[in-house]
Amino acid sequence: MAARALELWKDHETQWKQKFFHPIGVLWMVEGDGEFERGSLPLLKDAGIPFEQLAATELVRRWKQINFEKVEWGIWEPQSGYLLARASAQAVVEHFVAEGGEYRQAAIVPGGLESGDWKGLPLSDGSKLVADRYVFACGPWLGNLFPKTVGPHFVSTKQDVFFFGTPAGIDCYEEGGLPVWADHSDHFMYGIPGNQRRGFKLADDTRGPDFDPTSGQRLVGEDRLAEARRYLAYRFPGMKGAPLVESRVCQYENTTDHNFIVDRHPANQDVWIVGGGSGHGFKHGPALGEMVARLVLKNETADALYRLARFFPNR
Ligand SMILES: Cc1cc2nc3c(=O)[nH]c(=O)nc-3n(C[C@H](O)[C@H](O)[C@H](O)COP(=O)(O)OP(=O)(O)OC[C@H]3O[C@@H](n4cnc5c(N)ncnc54)[C@H](O)[C@@H]3O)c2cc1C
Repeated sequence: MAARALELWKDHETQWKQKFFHPIGVLWMVEGDGEFERGSLPLLKDAGIPFEQLAATELVRRWKQINFEKVEWGIWEPQSGYLLARASAQAVVEHFVAEGGEYRQAAIVPGGLESGDWKGLPLSDGSKLVADRYVFACGPWLGNLFPKTVGPHFVSTKQDVFFFGTPAGIDCYEEGGLPVWADHSDHFMYGIPGNQRRGFKLADDTRGPDFDPTSGQRLVGEDRLAEARRYLAYRFPGMKGAPLVESRVCQYENTTDHNFIVDRHPANQDVWIVGGGSGHGFKHGPALGEMVARLVLKNETADALYRLARFFPNR
């Protein structure tokens, strides 16, 4: 799905004459055998995603600004990279409207959606939305809207993101000097350099505390910042003591198995539930959209991997 999504991202960049994808490469650093990375190799090959499997000596030769202590090997994906999330999400709305779609900035009023017998959706502006099919892609709020059907299999977690200032006049921590990187050690740390000169982005993929996406305070934790600083000084010694120039709090919308939910509501066949990106859903957006559009318009059934029934294996 990521490979298909990348094709679609590029198609839309051409179609819309806008740049979202920055192919600066992705480096996976692996400590130990790396079950995830080793298991990915044949899949990357099958998906036609170019990569090199690199020994530790080659990693050290290529990226002198990284301390590869304990890293035994790596995967280098030269044509992969990063996407601009906000810009591309805004472009989707603009082009959806340009192609004749209607976009309304309004909230669905939660409550009563679990029963199958409602006609039309009450909106925050007091109006009602009546349609033939409803696709709820409400991210971490899906558990609130469907507390019985989705709630038990879904949790939002607080994820802190840090941007550190890079040393003046040194570009080896910038886009072009460093790829997107992922470090699968005891914690799964990852980062994106450059990113419109926002600074050196670093974050820990470890799930944070439960987080209410509506009322949660989006302040990074002092403990998380201290951990991020320790890691930065260890893996990128030249960035030791770098100033924090920006921080963000976002929420992962985790399903219990970290797979998407794409399914009809058990009590209402005209209602589709789509979400559960579990911290890795954004890149898949175009391919997931393509798949959901087909399922809804052709009245097909999603792959069992995405269906709600997987949460009730004994039923
Ligand atoms: C720190 C962090 C880093 C991440 N990094 C990556 C990454 O590198 N790569 C990647 O692929 N993914 C990444 N992700 C995951 C990715 O962001 C999500 O999987 C993806 O954005 C989920 O998209 P979505 O459309 O399902 O939900 P969302 O993007 O959350 O959209 C849901 C929308 O529903 C709206 N909504 C909710 N309730 C209502 C209502 N009642 N009425 C009307 N509208 C409503 C919300 O306002 C929101 O706009 C990351 C996530 C986090 C938190």
